[in-house]
Amino acid sequence: GLQARLGRPGTLLLERLRGVQRAQGGISPGDLRRLADEFGLPVAAVTGTVSFYADFAEGCRGQRHVRVCEGASCFASTGGQHIRDLERVLGVRRGTCAPDGSVSLQAVRCLGYCYDSPAVLDGGRPGTGQDLGGLLNGQPDADSGSALSIRTPPPIPYESRADPPVVLAGLLGVEGGWQVWPEVVTGGSPEQVSGEVAASGLRGRGGAGFPTAKKWSMAAGEPGPRYVIANGDEGDPGSYCDRLLMEQDPHRILEGLALAAFTVGARHGLVLVRSEYPLAVARMRAALAEARAAGHLGRGVHGSGFDFDVEVVEGAGSYVAGEETALMHTVSGLRGDARPRPPYPTSKGFLGRPTVLNNVETLAAVPWIVRHGGAAYARLGHPDEPGTKLVCLSQLFRRPGVYEVEYGVPLRYLVEDLGGGLRDGRTLRAVQVGGPLGGFLTPVQLDLPLLTKPLGQAGVPLGHASLIAFDTELPAAAILRHEWAFGAAESCGACTPCRVGTRRGLELAEQIDESGQPAGLLARQEPLLEVLDAASLCAFGRGVACAVRSVTRAYSDEFSRSSP
Ligand code: SF4
Repeated sequence: GLQARLGRPGTLLLERLRGVQRAQGGISPGDLRRLADEFGLPVAAVTGTVSFYADFAEGCRGQRHVRVCEGASCFASTGGQHIRDLERVLGVRRGTCAPDGSVSLQAVRCLGYCYDSPAVLDGGRPGTGQDLGGLLNGQPDADSGSALSIRTPPPIPYESRADPPVVLAGLLGVEGGWQVWPEVVTGGSPEQVSGEVAASGLRGRGGAGFPTAKKWSMAAGEPGPRYVIANGDEGDPGSYCDRLLMEQDPHRILEGLALAAFTVGARHGLVLVRSEYPLAVARMRAALAEARAAGHLGRGVHGSGFDFDVEVVEGAGSYVAGEETALMHTVSGLRGDARPRPPYPTSKGFLGRPTVLNNVETLAAVPWIVRHGGAAYARLGHPDEPGTKLVCLSQLFRRPGVYEVEYGVPLRYLVEDLGGGLRDGRTLRAVQVGGPLGGFLTPVQLDLPLLTKPLGQAGVPLGHASLIAFDTELPAAAILRHEWAFGAAESCGACTPCRVGTRRGLELAEQIDESGQPAGLLARQEPLLEVLDAASLCAFGRGVACAVRSVTRAYSDEFSRSSP
């Protein structure tokens, strides 16, 4: 039936497409027909999948394939000059391949090296920093991508709190994993695990903030088979903590996923890792093999009656595919379009079955919670939002990096105490909080706390909570264009308000240059933003509207000055 058809290509189709592309540098019409036959699908279905994902659709692949980051931190650090320089040095335009097939250049958002922008991936080898020669020569080996580690900040007191913040040594730092799993799977109960997670107040760390225990109980209440998925599709420019977690502590994520599976009664789990993170894909796969060898996964785990195994799936280049309904399509081998909810994935997710999807940072917190108790976790952070958050600071800060902080700390503590202000004597003009669907705040707003509600009231969704610094060098018009360009490039196209609205918005923004905007042009954004806000099918369209509004608000003085 249709259901079988929907699930049929499964995770294998993306793998097969990637294999063909690696072997031949591109996917030909003959390949499409062959794969359609192999999977028993219409050619149009395979063509639809290929045309959706940037990795397959954008130009051909040269023998040397270079990916350059055009995410917000790289943009804030060079204004886009690094991409133009690379085009000149490599002799190819972005999105194209040299006629002799020797080299191709793909612009992506983002590579997850926002602490040392700009960044490239030359093959699988990362290169970061301001020196173009260094970018292309990369670093000695792929492992150097892990040079940065997650830091737990020193206990610097901040004013809005009576006690100094707790130093969270090891809470989300590198810990290993599998410390509670053998005991839980052999002697524990799903109710005990779900009780601790409920008591912890843990909410999703990927942006939506849904209560984790509630999501698990919704799926557990549906008839099986059930699935659990770790979302490692960290597409938000500015956030790179998920990459570091997957590279540096993959066992902890797998243990969190296993605990989720045990709680909801799932026998099969998936970890989706974006293709822009090749080292994370490799580390997750290596950890999976180690976990199987150690008996943490497989049939009758640790002599219990519980069977559980995991598959690591590599994404194919799509921002929207990180949205939960879109991600279900991706791991099913389909176009990564979002779809209306309900039904929610907890009742109808992967292969149409009840599925729990959690961000990798959320899952990484679960072993600690089960080991130390939900109440201990709930004592951290703020009563409205307990616990800690990994916050990434971008390259323009004096001390960029990932810091684990409690919810509720003022943004000024992150920017000034942890980040140390801006480097090289630059002046802070704005911070973008929560990625491209978050929002811009000015320096006078930095006393706002790292909490969903107060930031939401200021028109800024907390999102993944990471901060990108913008200095006074970059004009407001360029930032506005960057925001609309992101919306137009990453819209999945499933609904008209977002597909058309983001392109019209970009056309408008392209007419606003640094020397002054034609009268009334900025005001013409407003009807577009209203439609995006009211009629978009998923949170992406609404997020673009919110982000664009925040740019015009944060830079209102500059925009009004440039009006004739
Ligand atoms: Fe796709 Fe944008 Fe519509 Fe979401 S709002 S479904 S991303 S077109």
